[in-house]
Amino acid sequence: MTRRRWIADTWTETSASLQGEQAAHLARVLRAQPGQIFDVVANGFLHRAEVLSATESEVVFALKEQLETEASLRVHLLMAVFKFDHMEWGIEKATELGAARVTPVIARRTEKHLAQAAARRVERWRRIVREAAQQSRRSDVPAVDDPAPLKTALGMVSAERRLLLAETEQENSLRNELARGPLGENLPVALAIGPEGGWTAEEMALFSQSGWKHVTLGPRILRAETAAIAALAVCAAMLQDS
Ligand code: SAH
Repeated sequence: MTRRRWIADTWTETSASLQGEQAAHLARVLRAQPGQIFDVVANGFLHRAEVLSATESEVVFALKEQLETEASLRVHLLMAVFKFDHMEWGIEKATELGAARVTPVIARRTEKHLAQAAARRVERWRRIVREAAQQSRRSDVPAVDDPAPLKTALGMVSAERRLLLAETEQENSLRNELARGPLGENLPVALAIGPEGGWTAEEMALFSQSGWKHVTLGPRILRAETAAIAALAVCAAMLQDS
């Protein structure tokens, strides 16, 4: 069985520590003792790690050798902010499927009260990706950027393949578009998912100016969170080496 991975809260080059609920769980429920060995993710790498001290408020490890890990999908997801419960479900599943980065976008058609609350919600989104990363045994935690308007968000994209998921596109499927690229090279991809009301014409123009291509997931109109999950599943199938 794969051993459970712990994602460190703080670390140095040679040590790592878990705090809060993780420490309490490890100390109280799993009764961690000095000398025991666990797998700990620190600084983006998975290490074998030995418990140095364990209390319910902090468990400290000495980091041992680095272990081989799978790479995350090189997919940067731009997701318009929409109903928080649905969006959070989408973010959690995107993390399980391997997304490397999520940028929440305040779209023109993002409801006003959601747009206003988004900045305060980002801490919760970061907690969700962290828990989902741990649960799905990832060795890294996807970055969640502060919510930004589209123009700013587009400036944060470095991936050379930029694909706008569009229910209005009828020809070019995501699958075809990914197959066009050199397979196996795992080139970074950016995907953008719109809000429930769709993007405005002005926003569509911004995408075009930044070189985004329209792609479809099929003839049905999907909810935004379904589109995010379906798109990542296609990426996982087409881009992952193993
Ligand atoms: N404006 C639409 C709904 C938008 S659906 C309407 O009400 O008619 C929310 C987002 O999901 C879209 O912006 C798009 O990014 C994505 N999406 C939904 N269905 C899709 C499909 N068939 N192909 C690609 N993307 C889709």
